[in-house]
Amino acid sequence: MQIFKKGENMKERIPPYVQKLIDKGSIAIKLQFKKPRRETNAYQFPEDPLGEEERYTPVKGIVHKFKNRVLWKITYRCAGHCQICTRRRQIGSPEGDLTYEEIEAGADYIRTHPEVHDVIISGGDGMYPVHDTMHALDLLMKIESVKVIRIGTRMPFHSPDSFRTKPFKELLKKMRFIAKRRPLYVFVHMNHPDELTRKVLNVLKLIKRTGAEVGTQTVFLKGINDNVDALEHLFTTLYHNGIRPYYIYRCDYADGLGGRVCSFKEEKNIMTELRKRLSGPAYPTYIVDVAGGKGKIPPPLGFWKNSGTRTCFDFEGEKINLTLTRKKAKR
Ligand SMILES: *Cc1c(COP(=O)(O)O)cnc(C)c1O
Ligand code: SF4
Repeated sequence: MQIFKKGENMKERIPPYVQKLIDKGSIAIKLQFKKPRRETNAYQFPEDPLGEEERYTPVKGIVHKFKNRVLWKITYRCAGHCQICTRRRQIGSPEGDLTYEEIEAGADYIRTHPEVHDVIISGGDGMYPVHDTMHALDLLMKIESVKVIRIGTRMPFHSPDSFRTKPFKELLKKMRFIAKRRPLYVFVHMNHPDELTRKVLNVLKLIKRTGAEVGTQTVFLKGINDNVDALEHLFTTLYHNGIRPYYIYRCDYADGLGGRVCSFKEEKNIMTELRKRLSGPAYPTYIVDVAGGKGKIPPPLGFWKNSGTRTCFDFEGEKINLTLTRKKAKR
């Protein structure tokens, strides 16, 4: 499904708060939001590498790829346009906005598929059309088979001041009501420590005070965060503020992102080093959302040479023979 003409997608859209951080000199943020003068298409990647619309959308907005959980894209719009977005093919198009009736149709699909226990309200930004977010939440709360609700957003960074407005206060109130009854997770897209200002952290804490669990999702981005010290700083700061880094993704092979995909070997080295440096809960799961297939797959780290299971290398690089520690079972 092509929404924009080639090269017309992802118009520059930088929210005032993000622009302020760029003006203060953050290169890592600037590189995520400024449209490059010329797009480097080092590789020819598909627009929809994960087949979201093509293969897994039974009802507008719903992506049902894994049996027990669905992604529910209630909009294609966001407060800011991250040029590094995996859904560059559609971000900014009003075509992805679900009408009131389409949200009800999505909820009907979920209700009639009781194997779905876990719903991720996303987009675009799952919190950007705040009234639709609330509508979707209300409907999900009426479905018995939905045990867990998640929301994917970048609003705390794109627009921390929104959380002081009336609609967002209403959303927070609703989240407080829901979190008392069901596990509610909010996953915020965060790529670099420059994004973690005091103001942004305060919003994350505000969300946490509703009783929702707050986590983050990060993408490896060449020239932006493919740096062990920056990521250590990001994950440690989150952890110290009670926020759990959830995932770090290998950048999807999506059209327009060729220049941002890191060396796979370098990523694995960084994740191996971080495993040594970080406390367990500060360490996100490193995964590849495999194009042309199904699954978020964790790559093996440097502790396991080749694919053997008989030896590994510990944090100090000592070779450990695992067979020696196994005792024969007594008959
Ligand atoms: C990522 C994703 C999920 C959620 O996967 P988790 O590993 O449970 O976080 C669900 N549905 C789709 C289509 C996804 O891409
Ligand atoms: S907020 Fe998320 S969905 Fe929106 S442009 Fe940024 S990465 Fe894409």
